[in-house]
Amino acid sequence: MSKFSRRTLLSATAAALAGRALPAFAASPFSFKHGAFEVTVVSDGHLVLPTNFLAPDAPSPEREELFKAAGQIGEQYNSPTNVTLVRSDSDLILIDMGSGDRFMPTAGKLWDNLKSAGIDKAKITRVVFTHGHPDHLWGTVDELDDLVVPGASFYVARTEWDFWNGDNATQGLPAERAGFVTGARRNFTAIKDKVKLVKAGDEIVAGLRIIDTPGHTQGHVSLELAGGEGLIVGGDALTHPLISFRHPEWKPIADHVPEQAIATRRKLLDRLAADRSKLIGFHLPYPGVGTVERKDNAYRFVPIA
Ligand SMILES: [Zn+2]
Repeated sequence: MSKFSRRTLLSATAAALAGRALPAFAASPFSFKHGAFEVTVVSDGHLVLPTNFLAPDAPSPEREELFKAAGQIGEQYNSPTNVTLVRSDSDLILIDMGSGDRFMPTAGKLWDNLKSAGIDKAKITRVVFTHGHPDHLWGTVDELDDLVVPGASFYVARTEWDFWNGDNATQGLPAERAGFVTGARRNFTAIKDKVKLVKAGDEIVAGLRIIDTPGHTQGHVSLELAGGEGLIVGGDALTHPLISFRHPEWKPIADHVPEQAIATRRKLLDRLAADRSKLIGFHLPYPGVGTVERKDNAYRFVPIA
């Protein structure tokens, strides 16, 4: 069967299934001006994760009290996935590409949500990744492993690229996460001729700069956007609206290098509170935009919307 007819068949099947699939996440994009940029947060849907992932080693009963305060009382919880789109004079820049169609049925809604908002994905000129986890990277290719945005340039931190493509990616990885490596390599292979490997301090366009925020993964980075008090697109450095701020020292299961992730959270929280910069958190309650306040030794996320 030709690639074209396979694609037609796949989309026909997807359309037929759509009637009984889970309802698509229908939040409309959240946009605001920041300096010379227009920033839009678009939902990719949400992940369904075991509550135990949050901080299994944290002390009881404080742990349970925080879960309760966050409304996470069952064995599973929903984690939003907020993708950031930055428009400058001449560029449309996407930060992370969502889950695509092979991770979870509740995620991978980015392209549909962009379309309903009247944003043409073909106009995206650059794509920057914070890290190589499925919910940030696997939306890079479609069901036939073709690039969803073939005309764009791609940017990945060199440390992150080397980690997922190197021997250490598979070493010591729990069996249920082995697929993360296969998936990262599948998506990275698709962009290998268009990717630019970057490091902290590099600019994607004037005013949009890479900063190091390692620990969640070995080469996890965030993006700093110039203008006003500043804005940081923090990827998964701060993932939970209460735990990451009140207890940056608690260890979520998803962090690859826990001690480094703790140091990163402390440094980032300190900076966000001192500078009064805006933060966009990929997994914070949609749209995940807010500021950080410091009170004594604890921090608080203050949502803007
Ligand atoms: Zn994530």
